[in-house]
Amino acid sequence: MQAIRNFFKTFLLWELLRGMMVTGRYLVRKKFTIEYPEEKAPQSHRFRGLHALRRYPNGEERCIACKLCEAVCPALAITIDSAPREDGTRRTTRYEIDLFKCIYCGFCEESCPVDSIVETRVHEYFMEQRGDNIFTKPQLLAMGDKYEQQIAADRAADAPYR
Ligand code: SF4
Ligand code: SF4
Repeated sequence: MQAIRNFFKTFLLWELLRGMMVTGRYLVRKKFTIEYPEEKAPQSHRFRGLHALRRYPNGEERCIACKLCEAVCPALAITIDSAPREDGTRRTTRYEIDLFKCIYCGFCEESCPVDSIVETRVHEYFMEQRGDNIFTKPQLLAMGDKYEQQIAADRAADAPYR
């Protein structure tokens, strides 16, 4: 019986018709593809993109060089050197993230006691030269300065869940 059924299905192009039915159904449905990069997918305020180092409103660096982020990083992507300043406080003299090693887990952000190192929503970046994968302290601070408004808004949105 099954053999006869298969025989007729072959002649009536049954599988092809079923495939065309699926195509036809999706032809009239609402499209869920987006035309990137003109159209962007919505992002969560917890999005983990490129890193940034933040400052306080008076311009002072938040980072106190405690090195918790360096210690917690599972990919060993963070390198920090530190030294005391003239006023006795400690600050980083070097803060680098190797973007080739980073797995964007967000542990550095979670561990920071002063909300200094954060991950932004920036995910569209590229490297042209050997060594561009090392994200330096000036670059991280520049990212923080540029996106502070967005970073602060995202932290505020997440605050009730922390
Ligand atoms: S996001 Fe994760 S892997 Fe990347 S630097 Fe932070 S702790 Fe390391
Ligand atoms: S970014 Fe935060 S966790 Fe990392 S060294 Fe600075 S203060 Fe410590």
